[in-house]
Amino acid sequence: MLKLYNTLTNQVEEFKPIEENKVRVYVCGPTVHDFAHIGNFRTFLFADLLRRYLKFKGYQVHHVMNITDVDDKIIRKSVEKGQTLREYTQIYTDYFFEDFDALGAERPEEILRATDHIPEMIEIIKRLSANGHTYQSDGSTYYRINTFTGYGKLSKMNFEGNVTGASERVDSDEYEAKENARDFVLWKAVKPGEPFWETDLGQGRPGWHIECSAMSMKALGETFDIHAGGIDLVFPHHENEIAQSEGATGKPFVHYWVHAEFLMVEGQKMSKSLGNFFTFRDLVEKGYTPRAIRYLLLSAPHHKQLNFTLEGLRGAESTVARLNDFKLRLNEAAVEDGETPATAELIARSLKRFEDAMDDDLNTAEALAAVHDFVRETNSALAQGSLKADDKKALLAAVDRFDSVFSIFGEVKKEMLDSEIQALIDERQAARKAKNFARSDEIRNQLTEMGIILEDTKDGVRWRRK
Ligand SMILES: [Zn+2]
Repeated sequence: MLKLYNTLTNQVEEFKPIEENKVRVYVCGPTVHDFAHIGNFRTFLFADLLRRYLKFKGYQVHHVMNITDVDDKIIRKSVEKGQTLREYTQIYTDYFFEDFDALGAERPEEILRATDHIPEMIEIIKRLSANGHTYQSDGSTYYRINTFTGYGKLSKMNFEGNVTGASERVDSDEYEAKENARDFVLWKAVKPGEPFWETDLGQGRPGWHIECSAMSMKALGETFDIHAGGIDLVFPHHENEIAQSEGATGKPFVHYWVHAEFLMVEGQKMSKSLGNFFTFRDLVEKGYTPRAIRYLLLSAPHHKQLNFTLEGLRGAESTVARLNDFKLRLNEAAVEDGETPATAELIARSLKRFEDAMDDDLNTAEALAAVHDFVRETNSALAQGSLKADDKKALLAAVDRFDSVFSIFGEVKKEMLDSEIQALIDERQAARKAKNFARSDEIRNQLTEMGIILEDTKDGVRWRRK
């Protein structure tokens, strides 16, 4: 039974979907004004892990992610470049999905753009107005938070005594004319030179929070199972989503709120001024592989802070290389027919340990420990030559099962064919005969690099794979 820590109840709870065998998940997606950084990808890979594990458990998953393609930064940058919002955001949306795919994340069932859902947002704001949750000021529409009794239930913040004119600024998406500093904007009146939509609420554009209420409820219904995102979104974004959705519908919005913790880099908060700010692309340019980055970002459970270091990333490189090498060797192992009880026991024990760990609020560290022990034990069986054909098949299936969740073993690259290796060896023999030792050495080095070991025997040159 899968258990998840639910930010709403502050407890680890058994997961029970609304509809049997089907899970509806919404994940707050990227704001597409720049390249995504590794902190962003920690959250998106956590969401990927969650969806993959739900599928591992046999659920049918409907996963929705939004693209925030309108906000202050996007407007400013697109105006600077003389591009329309759509032209500007399409560029960074494409970059985002290149990175997303390279990191092995599965595409959600639906990817929705905010600017394609303006009518749905207006509809919710009208319902909120009808329910007495809004007020207008200078052409903008605000949510009056003290009309929603549950306000603060997600973030556990206490809003009593929060008076008009309080100077604390909690939301960058705001105007001056609010009654209460915590009130937030639903619809922003147009400003000169900015793009706007013509609506029943006047010319303007949506606030950030209303996007996610509109898109999630459109795609998944007024009440759905899981809402995920980074922990930095708990307040105000997710708190405001609850106020909007529940204020409009009068129904519970989401059953399980799950959040990925912060990512630290070299022990500090990632920031451009500290020089520890990395986009995914920065790391690829430094020569790191997407699979190692994926491994490192998934290696710490989502409810713990992850300290991302380049040393850790180098370690992850050798780990994923080792896992790939293992898969390759297992694939190529020559075995006799039959099966052994020891292998069946190893697989059952490893899969159970893996599943127990993942059921425990997605404890990836322990699940990966189960995978590594499985690899170690299989390696020693390989070394002893005790594996049979059915063992090998079952072991490879177990690898696929682990990898359906983590996707860290990589593909088995087609090695050089035996005939190609033999041709090189023949060429080397000919070179030696012709006393062309430079060419002969070159071929030997090439073969060594590919893990081919040459042995001179009295019957001629033999070769084997390392
Ligand atoms: Zn959101």
